Amino acid sequence: MKLLSVKECDLFQKKVFIRCDFNVPTDEFGNITDDRRIRSALSTIKYCLDQECSIILASHFGRPKAGVFSTEDSLSCVSRRLHQLLKMEIQFASDVVGESAKTLAKGLKSGEILLLENLRFEAGETKNDPEFSAALASFADVYINDAFGVSHRAHASVAGITEHFDMAHKAAGFLLLKEIEFFDTLLERPVRPFAAIVGGSKVSGKLEALVNLLPRVDKVLIGGGMAFTFLKALGHDVGNSLVEDDLIDEAGKIIEEAARLGVKFYLPVDVVAAEKFSADSHTRMVSSQEIPSGWMGLDIGIATVELYREVLEDVKTVLWNGPMGVFEMEKFAKGSNKIAHIVAELDATTVVGGGDTADLVQRIGMDDAMSFISTGGGASLELLEGKVLPGVKPLMK
Ligand code: AMP
Repeated sequence: MKLLSVKECDLFQKKVFIRCDFNVPTDEFGNITDDRRIRSALSTIKYCLDQECSIILASHFGRPKAGVFSTEDSLSCVSRRLHQLLKMEIQFASDVVGESAKTLAKGLKSGEILLLENLRFEAGETKNDPEFSAALASFADVYINDAFGVSHRAHASVAGITEHFDMAHKAAGFLLLKEIEFFDTLLERPVRPFAAIVGGSKVSGKLEALVNLLPRVDKVLIGGGMAFTFLKALGHDVGNSLVEDDLIDEAGKIIEEAARLGVKFYLPVDVVAAEKFSADSHTRMVSSQEIPSGWMGLDIGIATVELYREVLEDVKTVLWNGPMGVFEMEKFAKGSNKIAHIVAELDATTVVGGGDTADLVQRIGMDDAMSFISTGGGASLELLEGKVLPGVKPLMK
């Protein structure tokens, strides 16, 4: 998939609208606790500054009630952090397409940056409202999308707005280009053997991705809550573990399809079972084929970790999406942490899906050891499902 690149746009002395993903986590005092998303937008912003253009930045932040301004969802904290990181003044509009934004955008000179208020303060953003898209587009000569994390959403600032710019005046920023390139190579030209480690809570959330991945991979390693629907499909006792009864047949078909395609399909051989879904529950390491009634599997066990270590030894490409257990509780995080270490030490291209998997890898400081960590959980999952994202399609060559 080839995208229009920011490098192909003539930006000199132009007004450039860059859609970023500044949806950073904050503490109860509104302090940014992790500014990775802001820093990952800097290469596009700096490149644009070098082209002597003026820049209008826009992002969503949190989940404010549409149409209602709230101080806690204001992008003012992002404005301050951008100022620190870029060491320059950031003009900040107190609205999105109102008087403040209009006046500041009109007066913006080359080399200056304006940040608009939280896009989701306007109901038109998530509704992909044509009038709101037009109002956003009216600020700029060129549109750049660098917000991979929301490119699977048909929202005004990633979808509707693109209709107002021709091919010479819209493009993907460096972050979006990198994300799309990694997933494109992964799905179309992986260096083999290629293994997909798929975990998380439910089969339903990853079903389409699994179906799309099966013909492309050599091995699938399953973990997390979804493993139990597969184990039940094979006729094993899974106690009180998370099972989607309506997907047992589907899970069985996936196992059959893997066998038909010659894809090795691995399920946990042992699990950390708990009496209740709680951090202080009693736990036992049990065979995944005989989970005692009343107990539930909340993490993969030691034997599974060792099995997966062996299975991954010869692979040249790994995709990891979804935790191996309830990693939010220390007691059930060991399986995910160990898999993170195993993946990090491989002599392979290692790609980590966004969301929970990215969080857990970052939490234990293994992020630098991975080849690539996606910044978008939902967006990367849709790419794995084989979909073309609504924010990416208008930027395709
Ligand atoms: P997902 O959003 O589908 O990737 O799922 C992530 C969630 O799966 C995390 O919040 C985990 O706590 C949860 N999870 C992982 N393993 C299990 C399990 N064995 N039982 C229940 N939930 C799980």
